[in-house]
Parts: sequence; C-alpha cells; structure tokens
Amino acid sequence: AQANIGVVGLAAMGASLARNLAHKGNTVAVYNRHYSRTETLIDKHGDEGKFVPAKTLEEFVASLTKPRTAIIMVKAGEPTDDMINALADLMEPGDIIVDCGNAYYKDTMRREKAIRARGLHFVGCGVSGGEEGALKGPSMMPGGTKESWKTLGPILESISAKAEGEPCVTHIGSDGAGHFVKMVHNGIEYSDMQLIAESYDLMRRGLGMEPAEIGDLFEEWNKTELNSYLIEITAEVLHHVDKKTGKPFIDVVLDHAGMKGTGTWTVQTALSLGVPVTGIAEAVFARGLSSQTELRAEAAKQGLEGPSEVVPMPLEERQAFINDIREALYASKIVAYAQGFNEISEAAKEYGWDIDLAAVARIWRGGCIIRAQFLNRISEAFESGEANVSLLFAPYFKDAVETVQRSWRRVISRAISFGIPMPVFSSSLAYYDGLRSKRLPAALIQGQRDLFGAHTYQRVDEPGVFHTLWTEEGQEEIKQS
Ligand code: NDP
Repeated sequence: AQANIGVVGLAAMGASLARNLAHKGNTVAVYNRHYSRTETLIDKHGDEGKFVPAKTLEEFVASLTKPRTAIIMVKAGEPTDDMINALADLMEPGDIIVDCGNAYYKDTMRREKAIRARGLHFVGCGVSGGEEGALKGPSMMPGGTKESWKTLGPILESISAKAEGEPCVTHIGSDGAGHFVKMVHNGIEYSDMQLIAESYDLMRRGLGMEPAEIGDLFEEWNKTELNSYLIEITAEVLHHVDKKTGKPFIDVVLDHAGMKGTGTWTVQTALSLGVPVTGIAEAVFARGLSSQTELRAEAAKQGLEGPSEVVPMPLEERQAFINDIREALYASKIVAYAQGFNEISEAAKEYGWDIDLAAVARIWRGGCIIRAQFLNRISEAFESGEANVSLLFAPYFKDAVETVQRSWRRVISRAISFGIPMPVFSSSLAYYDGLRSKRLPAALIQGQRDLFGAHTYQRVDEPGVFHTLWTEEGQEEIKQS
C-alpha cells in the first residue's frame, strides 16, 4: 500500500479532483468502472504527480494506506449507492468513504448511518466550482464525523481554493450537513443568477440597451460592492458574439433555462422546514416558466395584452435609473443570502448540526460559483453575532438596505409599469416589507380560518385559544384553552 488517498470515478469531475490531489503532493490511487478512463488519465496526465492506477476495486483498496480514504465521484443516485457498498465490503473499520457527488442530504444521512453501523466513516462532501474548480481549487463542504475530518481535513485543505490565504473548506457538521449547505449554496446561486438576468432584462427591454453595452455596465458593477464571479461571467456572456451569425450570443440562445434539481431541493426543504426562501423559490419557478414551451407558444398566439411601448427617458434620468437597478440588485441579493442562511440555521436546529455560519460564508469566498466580495462582510456579521437571527439585522446590511430601498421600490414599480417581470426583485422586497411590518394581514386569515373551519385563533390582549360561534346569533366568543 502506498497511496494516501484514492478517487473512484474518473469522468470530468473525478479526473480533475485526482489531478488536483496529485499536484498537491498526494499519492493518488485511481479507479474507474471502465479502465479506459483510467488509462486516458494516466496517458495524458500521469506525469503531473504520483498516481497508482488500479484495474479492479480490490486492487484499488489494497493500494491505499490506513486509514484508507477513498473519494467517490460517480453518477449521483444508485451508482453512488452501489459504489459505497462495494467499497465498504472491501474496507475495514476506521476507513473513510467520501462522496463528493451532488447527493441529496437525506440520502447522505441514510448512507452515513448505514456505513457508521459497519464501523467505517462516511463523509458527504459538497463540492462547488465545476470541472475547473475541481482541478484548480474548489470550495468544499464536508459533513461526517469530527474524527474523519482529522485525516481528511489536511488533504482537503491542500486542494481547496484559497481566499485571502485561507482554505475554502471547513468541517460543516455531522452526517448530511455538508451536502445540505451545498444544496443551499446552489439555491442562492439560482437566486443570484435570476436577479442578474432580471437586471439585464430591464435594461435590454426597458431601456433598449444593447447586450455589449449592458456587458460594459456589469464590468463596471464588478468594481463595486457587487464584485463577484457571477457578475464577471455575465459581462463575458453579454460581450460574446456568435461566430455563425455575427449576432450577440445572447440573441441566438433559446430562452429555456435548464436545471438539475438542487434549486428544487432547496425550496422543497425550505417548505418542509417552514422557512420562506421566496427569492430562491421564484428563481426556480422562473426557470420553470421559461421551459413551459407549449404554454408560452400558446400565450404568444393568444396575444396576452400588456404595456407595449417603453417610454424613452432623458439621458440624466436614464443614468439615475441604471444606478437604481444596481442598488436594487444589491438589496435583493442581500435578501437571497439572508433567506439561504436562515434555511441553514433552521435545518441545523432540526437535525442537531453545529454549523458555524461565519465559516460557511468564509469558504464561499473562493472556488465556488457564488464567490463574492461581500461574503467577507457576511462572515464578519455572523462572527460578531449581529446576524444570528437574520443577516438583515446586522447593522452593515441593515444600513445597506435602508440606503438603497427607495431605488429598490422605484425599479420594481417601473418594471411593473413596463410589463417586465421581476419575480425575484419583487419577492425579495415583499419579504423585506413583510418582515418589517408590525402587523400583517395574517389576522384576517386567522378570522377566515376560524369562520370556515373552526381552526381557532389567539388574541392580542389575552393568552389562550379562542373560537367564535360564527353561525349563532350574537356570534359569541368562547375560550377553548
Ligand atoms: P457523471 O455524473 O457523468 O458520472 C460518470 C462517472 O460515473 C463515470 O466515471 C462512470 O463510469 C461512473 N459511473 C456511472 N455509473 C456507474 C455505476 N453504476 N458504477 C460505477 N461507476 C459508474 O460524472 P461527472 O464527473 O460529471 O460527475 C461526478 C459527480 O460529481 C456526480 O455526482 C455529479 O453530480 C457531481 N458533479 C458535481 C459538480 C460540481 O460542480 N460539484 C459538477 C458536475 C458534477 P464509466 O466511465 O465506467 O461509465
């Protein structure tokens, strides 16, 4: 035995991760179901570091030093389950199986329990950054036991991205905590992307700007508090010209947004935890609507009416409006993060995970898709305890939103008058307004529920549970407990 770590599954992600591990001085055992992928890796990249290619899983396990540590990077779902079981059959107590695929956190919890019962460690580890991240340094979110982190931690720290010199990896919490945090990361990513897309739409359709011109603006915005990977790549996409037609690339791409499921999981989980992640939900629904091809074709045929003309704005007003959009984007983005972190903290209570939210914000500063300058501020807000209840209550973010909220309201009302949908901008503001409302119309809903279903209500001036006898004359109120 000579390899201190192994990788199973050598498609795009696994091969990149194995190379990254080898670049950092690890001796990496590599195995793939079909040996051809292993051969390709060794032929093309064998000279980049120390690899131990294995033809069989038995050979692979035998080449690992104890405690044996194997990273699985195969197709999510059943193939991952099969591989975990096959490895567990060959390993011994104390060995560590790490699943770096995009697993659903409840699957990870189930797998961890089963593998722990066999005396082995199972670590579900979220990985963000795509193929390039896996090769050059991803953001990594491992769960599992603290004991497994002792072996795994230094290895993951060596291959992860670095932000201001700090590794973008931390032990998130037990069993499924790592995959849970990765899931919410993706949910925030959905929100962030949709917010940028809505800003683009408003400038394109509302102000009649050209893609390259909007790309220039995003480049400028990337020098402000919005500085982030997603803003940076947006500018690149908007500047890109289609080789075939010479048209802006954005105009030749079909407007049906795809998804693989992590956004949906984030929203489904939030619904079951009772946490309103309205921005993420609207972002998922916006992708859904974009892909309802037949419905949209029929809507076009029906010619649903709306404002058809955008009134041109004088130059000065237009500049001010563009500035409003930037500020509104920032405020909405803060809400997206506030909601995402809220979901993580509620899940931590539900599942007994001890998650350090400041550390989560820190490891998202590099390597991952949502990496952004303002995550420094977010981590500070959690570190000081100011954001413990909500990110929106931390003075830095409270001030930021208060300062720009007029712009936020102007942008949304204008978009409504133009007939341009801004689902995440609008729902984020509605969340903020709902949160700050001293009284919500929920009182009326309680009245309705009590009238039609005797669901009872509570009073503002007296403890207890009440029901009104709505159908009786006098509509007497009775105290039930
Ligand atoms: P794929 O998801 O396409 O999976 C292909 C790999 O799985 C191949 O090595 C294949 O082996 C292996 N495989 C498939 N079925 C089986 C099986 N029944 N038994 C054994 N091996 C099997 O590869 P990716 O590299 O794109 O992704 C790997 C994992 O990483 C996935 O879980 C995916 O969700 C996740 N991922 C994460 C990303 C991120 O940014 N974090 C991005 C992309 C993916 P063979 O060559 O023999 O067919």
